[in-house]
Formats: sequence, structure tokens, C-alpha cells
Amino acid sequence: MSNVPITVAHGDGIGPEIMDATLHIIKEAGARIDIETIEIGEKVYLSGNTAGIAPESWDSLRRTKVFLKAPITTPQGGGFKSLNVTVRKTLGLYANIRPCVSYHPFIKTKHPVMDVVIVRENEEDTYAGIEHRQTDMVEQCLKLISRPGCEKIVRYAFEYAHRNNRKKVTAFMKDNIMKQTDGLFHKVFDEIAAEYPGIEADHWIVDIGAAKMADTPENFDVIVMQNLYGDILSDVAAQIAGSVGLAGSANIGEHISMFEAIHGSAPRRAGQNLANPSGLFLGSIMMLVHLNQPDIAELAHNAWLKTIEDGVHTYDIFKEGVSKEKVGTKEFAQAVVDRLGQKPETLKPVEYKKVEEIAEADRKPIYSVLNAAKKELVGVDVFLHWWNGSYYGAGTELGQKLEAAANGDGLKLVMISNRGTKVYPKGFEDTFCVDHWRCRFMSDNDNREITHQQVINLLQRVQAAGFDFIKTEHLCFFDGEPGFSLGQGQ
Ligand code: NAD
Repeated sequence: MSNVPITVAHGDGIGPEIMDATLHIIKEAGARIDIETIEIGEKVYLSGNTAGIAPESWDSLRRTKVFLKAPITTPQGGGFKSLNVTVRKTLGLYANIRPCVSYHPFIKTKHPVMDVVIVRENEEDTYAGIEHRQTDMVEQCLKLISRPGCEKIVRYAFEYAHRNNRKKVTAFMKDNIMKQTDGLFHKVFDEIAAEYPGIEADHWIVDIGAAKMADTPENFDVIVMQNLYGDILSDVAAQIAGSVGLAGSANIGEHISMFEAIHGSAPRRAGQNLANPSGLFLGSIMMLVHLNQPDIAELAHNAWLKTIEDGVHTYDIFKEGVSKEKVGTKEFAQAVVDRLGQKPETLKPVEYKKVEEIAEADRKPIYSVLNAAKKELVGVDVFLHWWNGSYYGAGTELGQKLEAAANGDGLKLVMISNRGTKVYPKGFEDTFCVDHWRCRFMSDNDNREITHQQVINLLQRVQAAGFDFIKTEHLCFFDGEPGFSLGQGQ
């Protein structure tokens, strides 16, 4: 079998040491790889490249399509962009996979039987970073959730479960509050779950789901989440497994994938042969599985489990009474190499199977191509920056002024809300209001459809009356379904 080219970056801090250790183990295990080395991180940043990665390095990544990356140091101070975010977004690495496993009784953990895989969406949500200051008082961050984005990540979670013989996929979301964005995620989850009858599917509102995961992680298997929830809860999951320093992760794209440890470059430990290479090593195991070299992945992973079980531990997981031998980075790697061919006895040995290669042309699409829906414009939310000096009760004054100035031409004001809570008509005096108002206009007769020209005319009347409009959002029906939420209390 021929070797597969991969791109490797040794990174900063402890990066070079843990990368050498990782490569030593997987090469000794027989990994069929040819390495192209690129430079990323601190040196590249400090040479004036704010992305931390040189243009020719992108060529290597595009060529090999597989990236094994050691942690890097992002220099302090402004102007330096996160390399991870740049690489993930530029290369479309939409799925972040993080197995969180406890190794009881060999590594201290509160949860002896934890084996949870977090599948986090990596491209959208509030991480689009579209933020604006809108008024004196209010900042906004847009949460964008797309149907293909949900389809990609949910399908990935079910495919992962299927390939890895996992029994259940759980979705966490907050669709009791975010009925449109998280509602879409939930809907797509239900649709795709129905295609995998052999895998149990369940879902939790993220708050109680997170609490349950932290309390009884043994009840979870694969958990799929949007970007922000996944960012937070994948750290929680890794931490409660007792093994942040031990966790690896994969960032999977349609064409290119990246594998790494979840920890950083630990600069204070650098150059002392102290660091634990296990996080990056477990990332490299995910890479070998991705490269369809399950024999090598299984051999190396079981040798690593045996090493942990034999109590050969680096300083960070060394515990008197449990551990047998405190070793450095190199010695740990050699201990794993010495155990190639052995399997753990107490911990469960891993098994990886070869996946039948599917020709590009025969692959099932991971997202659907949508037909355009029938879209009807039925109203508009006009957002105003307006302030009369009072945090209470101003909705009535604004509502009356706006009705007088802006109603007409087939449109009428139906509601004003302040940060989502209805304050007009019939608002409560008790509602705390800031200087950011959402004013909803809809058709003033039964003919619910309105035109873009009516919206433009409305904005002209609003402006002529001296109001500062800061943005609009159109209210549409898509194939007869409303594409907007009601105000709280509406
Ligand atoms: P860190 O993960 O580097 O270190 C946190 C703590 O964990 C430290 O006490 C460290 O000694 C210990 N630790 C981490 N990995 C270890 C290992 N393999 N073996 C033994 N001990 C280990 O986090 P930090 O100190 O907040 O960040 C240091 C630098 O890493 C920063 O520049 C940060 O930007 C960067 N960082 C990079 C990545 C990445 O490249 N993926 C991720 C996180 C942080």
C-alpha cells in the first residue's frame, strides 16, 4: 500500500516535542504517511504575517488535504488573528470532533465510565463574528444558522455514530427560546435521525442537557451541537473526563481535515521534556482512522492504553499510589512504542475497521440542494435608535408618535418591542427599556402581502418624522410558513 502525503506543523512551546513523540509512535506502528512540514505560529506572526501561516503553507494543505497540527502560541497584543479560526473557516472544516474519555482507575476522574464524543458545528452561529454597535446602549451579534450547515453537522454526527458503532446521538439546542435558528437545527436533526433507525436519537434543551452531561455523562454517547454551545460544552466534557491534557480533536471538512490536541502550547513547560504528548497523539489516531489506516490506529491506540494502564505517566497525570513511573515526553513515547502489539487488560481495547472507499461520484450528498420556497413579504421590523430619557414606560410615547407619523400607504404599526419584549400597544410600565426599539409594521387590511416599495415609503416617512432608523428586517412567509418569531407578550 502506498504512503499518503500529510502536512505537519510542529508549532510553538511544547509543540515540537509532542509532535516528535507522536510521529515517533505512529511511524513505529507503521503509519503509511509521507510528511510535508510547514511553519506556522509565533515565528510567522512575528515576521509580520497577521494570519500566522505563510501563503505557500496553504498550497501544502490543499495538496495533501490532511493536516496534523501541534499547538501554537498566539502573540499577545492586537492585530494577530487566531490561526485556528482562520484555518477552520478558510478550509471549510465544518465539524469539530472531540472524544472525551475517562481512564479510570488509572487517571483520576469524577466519572469512571465516561465515553462521550462531542460533535461541534464549526463554521456558523455567532462565530460568523458579524457584530455591530447599533445605539448608545446596544451592541448586536448576529446568530446565523443555515439549513445546509445543520444538515452537514447532524449528518456527520450520525455517520460518525454509524462508523464507530455508537448507539445514540443526542442534540442539544435552545429552541424553546430561539424558535427560528435552534428550531431549524432541531427540525433538521429529526429529519436526519429518521434516516438512521438503528441509532437512538434524543434531544435536550442545552441548559438541562449540559447539567445532565456534567452529572451523568455515562448516559450520553455522541452529542451534536451548534458552534457556541459546542465550544463551551466540549471543554466541560474534556475537563470532567479528567483529561484535558489527554484529549485530541479532529476538524473535518468536505475536502481537507485537521487533527490536533485540544490544549495549547504550554510555553512554561517547553524544552524540558516534560509535556504529555497524548492529546496530539490521540489526534493523530483520529487522523489514521480518517486516512483509512485502522490497523495502524488500533495498534498504536491499544499500545497507548496499555502504557496508561501500566502506570507510565507524565508529570501532569502522575499520581502517587496509582502511577508507577514518572517519565518525560520522549520516554513516554518510547514506552508506547515498546508496547506496540499489546492490548490493555482493564481498559477496553479499541477496534477500528476499514471503511470501504466510496468513489467521489458515488458519495451521498451531505446536504440537500434546496428549491426556492414561495416567499411572501408580509411586513417589516424597523429598528429605531430612540431615547426620551426614561428607562420605563417610554413605549407608549414612541408608539403614539410613530403611529401618527408612519401609518399609511397600506401599512400600520402592530407592535413595538424592546429587546424582544412587547411594550406597545398595552405594554407594562414595569418593563425596563433601552434606546433600541423594534417596530413591527404589517398590512393594514386582509391582503397580507406587501411590497418592497411600501417598505421604502415607510422608511421615508419614518425619517421625515425625525426618527433614526438603524436597520430593518423583513417579515416573510416561506411556502405559507411564517419565517419570523412573535414578540414576547405579543
Ligand atoms: P495551555 O493549554 O497551553 O496550558 C494550560 C495548562 O495546562 C498549563 O498549566 C500547562 O502547563 C498545562 N498543559 C497543557 N498541555 C500540556 C501537556 N501536553 N502536558 C503537560 N501539561 C500541559 O493553555 P494556555 O497556557 O492558556 O495557553 C498557552 C498558549 O497556547 C497561548 O498562546 C494560547 O493562545 C495557545 N493555545 C493554542 C491552542 C492551539 O494551538 N490549538 C489552543 C489553546 C491555546
